[in-house]
Amino acid sequence: MSEGDGERRKHEGTAKRAMKSYQLTGFNRPLECVEQPAPEPKGSEVVIEVMQCGVCHTDLHLCRGYYDVGGDKKFTLADRGVHPPIVLGHEILGKLIAAGPDAPVDPAQIGRDFLVYPWIGCGTCAICRSGQENLCPDVAAIGIQRPGGYQEQLIVPHPRYLFDVEGINPVVAATYACSGLTAYAAIRKCSGDPATEALMIMGFGGLGQSALLIAKALGHAHIVVADTLEERRTIALEMGASAVFDPADPGAGQDSASPARPIAAALDFVGSEESALNAIAMLRRGGTYVAVGLFGGEMKVSLVGLIVKALSIVGSYVGSPQELGELLDLARGRGLGVPPVETMPMSEVNQALQRLAKGESRGRIVLTAAVPDKAKP
Ligand SMILES: [Zn+2]
Ligand SMILES: [Zn+2]
Repeated sequence: MSEGDGERRKHEGTAKRAMKSYQLTGFNRPLECVEQPAPEPKGSEVVIEVMQCGVCHTDLHLCRGYYDVGGDKKFTLADRGVHPPIVLGHEILGKLIAAGPDAPVDPAQIGRDFLVYPWIGCGTCAICRSGQENLCPDVAAIGIQRPGGYQEQLIVPHPRYLFDVEGINPVVAATYACSGLTAYAAIRKCSGDPATEALMIMGFGGLGQSALLIAKALGHAHIVVADTLEERRTIALEMGASAVFDPADPGAGQDSASPARPIAAALDFVGSEESALNAIAMLRRGGTYVAVGLFGGEMKVSLVGLIVKALSIVGSYVGSPQELGELLDLARGRGLGVPPVETMPMSEVNQALQRLAKGESRGRIVLTAAVPDKAKP
């Protein structure tokens, strides 16, 4: 867009003439701060002013430009239709500030806070019509294929992707769009009796922590956590895990994670060959292994073992709009507790990505926008 466009634009309400956008302009390099005209909504679109945006491991894969899919093979972002410049950031909490002429928005909703559902599908294929837009073959997610939340304002194609956050703890609200939703949808795939059987969580970063809180709220009374870092195992116990162990220690799993209770389901937030095989080996007959983490690689599983133990091996990728609604209802109703959250200003997005890459953060990092508080007295 030329600068002349900016001159001709007429902005209503609080929409700004220009805004800062942190963009991935090439793989394996820091995000660049670009000044550009603020977006204007057309048709059914709405504009959200970003208040908070969570930083996700997916952003690191996007910055790197590929996923490791095993052997020497790489799944590149070009395969996924993703080409720089990209505005990352898909855990967005913000204020609705403008709506296009065809957007079904009640004027009273302008100025209110919403959580953005980012996993947007084509809306017309059989998968989308079944409610699973996140699995649409033509998914165009906010913060991946569409511009995301590492900027001051963004376009959301329709207000149906906005979720009311009234009654939701604002410290963690943004994280429900990806880490919370991913954990919730994965737990929903687990087998077993939550009251009497154990659920195992492999990997206790931001996702594992969300999963523990959500699983407890859903009635899972026996949760075993595996993580190689002692600090994270301590956090797990503080947050209410029944047992913890170090998966790198061959004897430890036997002592603390093979209690009288059988493990009915394992949620793998690491997703390496090692974590997958460990988890599968520990499941009881009829158990479910849910792969979520994108560490990458491949695994070899005994087909006879799979059949005789009647195991289910399933993948889980983010979650549907309905599941996000269910998660928010759960958070509103019973409350989910707050996992460790670290806030950093949006202008430090590159430092935040580095902290996440190095595993330096205790939990989730949420970037906060420097929203001008002119409205305040
Ligand atoms: Zn994410
Ligand atoms: Zn679709």
